[in-house]
Amino acid sequence: MDCVFCNIVEGKLPAKKVFENDRVLAFHDIQPAAPVHILFIPKKHVPTMNDVTDFADITAIHQAIQQVAKELGVAESGYRIINNCNADSGQVVFHLHYHMLAGEKLGPLNA
Ligand code: 5GP
Ligand code: ZN
Repeated sequence: MDCVFCNIVEGKLPAKKVFENDRVLAFHDIQPAAPVHILFIPKKHVPTMNDVTDFADITAIHQAIQQVAKELGVAESGYRIINNCNADSGQVVFHLHYHMLAGEKLGPLNA
């Protein structure tokens, strides 16, 4: 299996990390869609939201989101969290991830 986000977790690919603990890694998206665009992933390989069994990972990701939003100074101005799941959402990387978009007034939800 060659998963780009597993490769980032394993240090085989570089990433601009902003948060890491035993369960979660967060890093800047390589192609930012907003001034702040962070990806939050579980360290273990989970392809999509449909495959989550260990919901402690989801809790840990949300704790990381809260902390990173404060650290990047967008907690009060606001941010959007997005998870794409399977084809209709446009999911490209099949390792569960949440996008954090912030740093500007964001457009409509279904853009
Ligand atoms: P998806 O469409 O699957 O929800 O989003 C995948 C995201 O991963 C995209 O926003 C894309 O720019 C980002 N991405 C893909 N490959 C890499 C990479 O190697 N490094 C980083 N930092 N982001 C990546
Ligand atoms: Zn993976």
